[in-house]
Amino acid sequence: MIGILNLQGGVAEHSDHLQRIGVASLPVKEPADFTHLSGLIIPGGESTCISRLLRIFDLNDVIIREFHRGMKIWGTCAGAVILAKSIAGEPTCLGLIDMEIERNSFGSQLDSFTCEASVPAIAKRSIPLTFIRAPKILRVGKEVTVLLRMDDYIAAAETTDVLVTVFHPELTGCVAFHRYFARKCGLDLLDETKIAPIDPAWKNTSWTRFARIT
Ligand code: GLN
Repeated sequence: MIGILNLQGGVAEHSDHLQRIGVASLPVKEPADFTHLSGLIIPGGESTCISRLLRIFDLNDVIIREFHRGMKIWGTCAGAVILAKSIAGEPTCLGLIDMEIERNSFGSQLDSFTCEASVPAIAKRSIPLTFIRAPKILRVGKEVTVLLRMDDYIAAAETTDVLVTVFHPELTGCVAFHRYFARKCGLDLLDETKIAPIDPAWKNTSWTRFARIT
């Protein structure tokens, strides 16, 4: 079972991707929800908001305890900020992966963009990437493996127990990162040929629809 931290941000989108690959998931918010999870996804959203809610719901210690008991964690975008050991100019939240991250590093919400990149550890074909007011990973420690380096920053990295992506695989039609994380958690997956197709109305730029309203 994979838990999706259900405080703020893209919970439904992660849950939908996990359902497509045949992996059971549960939105988690109460301390008791976290016991016996193989993995936890901290979704994208707003890291200041998520970190405040983690304190209000008293969840930091529970997550750290379950992490040390073997629960893997994947942070997407704001989730990656929550997991970083160092946040440029700001206090750290969970600090579970040795890296320095800089929030809102590409500019404002309107500087969000999509592109494609090859991430050999994750998939044979190139993967669509969606960056929404994304952070940049500036540097990683010795125990951290870089999965995707772009221009002057790192976009995806991992340790044995933590995966971080500064972009949003859950906001694309691609399930490669969700398959990778589920495997990291030791879970069984549907055969690739049995993965449910995405909603045909979905486009990689669907998330920009609000920006176009004048
Ligand atoms: N800018 C947000 C933050 O710093 C992250 C945005 C996102 O998750 N798409 O928390």
